Amino acid sequence: TMRMDGVPMNQGGSYQGMLFLLQEVTEIRRLERMRSEFVANVSHELKTPVAAVKGFAETLLGGGVKDEKTANSFLQIIYDENERLNRLIGDILELSKIESKRVQLDCSPIHLESFFQSLLETLSKVAEKKSISLSMDVPEELFIEADEDKLRQIFLNLLSNAINYTHDGGSVRVTAASRVKTDGDETVVFSVSDTGMGIPRKDLPRIFERFYRVDKARSRSSGGTGLGLSIVKHLTELHHGTISVDSDLGIGSTFTLELPLLQEEES
Ligand code: ADP
Repeated sequence: TMRMDGVPMNQGGSYQGMLFLLQEVTEIRRLERMRSEFVANVSHELKTPVAAVKGFAETLLGGGVKDEKTANSFLQIIYDENERLNRLIGDILELSKIESKRVQLDCSPIHLESFFQSLLETLSKVAEKKSISLSMDVPEELFIEADEDKLRQIFLNLLSNAINYTHDGGSVRVTAASRVKTDGDETVVFSVSDTGMGIPRKDLPRIFERFYRVDKARSRSSGGTGLGLSIVKHLTELHHGTISVDSDLGIGSTFTLELPLLQEEES
């Protein structure tokens, strides 16, 4: 019998064993590649704002900037870049916490109408600035069992994106409805739709990946980290739910989320 990796194999099973081993090696290599890509991305994303802060601070400290207006605009850049850095660090820590499975759900019944009312209120200022109308269609009596903080994070991300990637004067709408699946499982189907710029078909399969952006410049200038949707997907899966996206370029996007009505006890 062949021995590989110190593990004895069954007589006649060595071929299959080898196949498993190969698959495992391929999987380990894939994870390793993803990890090093992530580290490279993180370094790049962190270095950009740090370099900007350093450069503008040095210029100001050098005393070369005489007029107050220019000096103030440099200070504003330093402030904004530092804010972005702050968001990035927060998102990276959040993501690594979720991915290392150190996150536990703290579920309770949530009244969805009040939940979305308060969420839309939080976002009303940002929407007003762009004259975007925010609306909701949520049945009065609908409850879901979920982790409220995480549900809030999911919809804050989706709604902020919808506002961000929609032109002035557009509209953003969130809906929720209960559903009984063919197998009898009860779920709640949510949608967040906008009349925004849309996402090119070829980018759709990739937008939930970490740091993936359709338009880097636009995401940066709006303060995006490129991690929001990746966090949303993880939090959805943590609730045993699914998320999908449908989009027409120049017309708008719809993100659809389906979450179980009740969370089963972890065994
Ligand atoms: P970001 O911080 O860049 O917004 P996300 O992970 O939240 O990162 O989103 C990834 C990318 O998906 C965005 O950069 C943007 O290109 C695209 N995207 C997300 N939501 C929308 C939307 N509602 N409309 C158009 N594009 C979107």
